[in-house]
Amino acid sequence: MPTGEPICPTCGQALTGGGLVLMDREEDGKRTCRALWKCEERHLWWVWADRPASALDPCPDTELFVD
Ligand SMILES: [Zn+2]
Repeated sequence: MPTGEPICPTCGQALTGGGLVLMDREEDGKRTCRALWKCEERHLWWVWADRPASALDPCPDTELFVD
């Protein structure tokens, strides 16, 4: 497990957890969660909750999940 907060790949600031989004993964048909991460510059990232070691992916639906 990595320690400390993840860093925004775009601006290098610390990311804050933004909750989980339940969704179907096209790749393997599994219903699973994505953990959201956001920085102060409002860059939004997510990562599969069952693959915490995988790279952060840019979240395309910024307005959907962030107030
Ligand atoms: Zn950022």
